[in-house]
Amino acid sequence: MAHQRLCLACATIFDLEAVAVCPVCTSRHDEDLYHRVADLAHDVVYHGHLYRRKYEDNITSGDTRARYLLVEPSDVLVWLGITVLSGILGGASWDLVRAVAGRIRNSLSDTDTPTPDVDVLRNDAEEYVTGMANIDPAVRSAILEEILVHAAAPRLAEAVALLETHDSAPVNDPELVADAIAMAAKDALEKYRSLRSSKRDFEGLWSQLQDAVAKSDRG
Ligand SMILES: [Zn+2]
Repeated sequence: MAHQRLCLACATIFDLEAVAVCPVCTSRHDEDLYHRVADLAHDVVYHGHLYRRKYEDNITSGDTRARYLLVEPSDVLVWLGITVLSGILGGASWDLVRAVAGRIRNSLSDTDTPTPDVDVLRNDAEEYVTGMANIDPAVRSAILEEILVHAAAPRLAEAVALLETHDSAPVNDPELVADAIAMAAKDALEKYRSLRSSKRDFEGLWSQLQDAVAKSDRG
């Protein structure tokens, strides 16, 4: 699974180990671009969809305090995230977005876990990208907490590594830990903001499908 890639031109799923171009449309695979869009789509589906749904369910049933570590989103969910973001940030038509989502779904096997409806995912992603103003404030603050916690993990690991190099009283350096948390907050904010400055990466995706979708519109 780790080497599976989604062709950003024709939405074919292929094995990166085997080929450097898409085996169906022969578009060159741009691994850097793939990682940039997949990384942002991961955050959008993880925090804006999976965590949102979990905390909405909880808060509706009266539990406002429980926090969870949810399983990372599957490759398929990340691919669907790239797909809806190509519409939200990249300006792809919703007919094209639905066609891409349909191709991704058609390539799934029966054993794959069910995926959310593309309109649900679009709505959640749009809310997330535009600042979550319409989300219940209790759900929103739970999501923001998750964003910060996830950003904090690598910064705290760095701080722990530094603390371990201290000769004495290694845990007695609250400033170092406070700095790590402040840097994590900065990382989280920068990454969240980078969503909107990443429009160009999401523009012009699905070049091999645009004509076919436009034609079926006219027909
Ligand atoms: Zn392709």
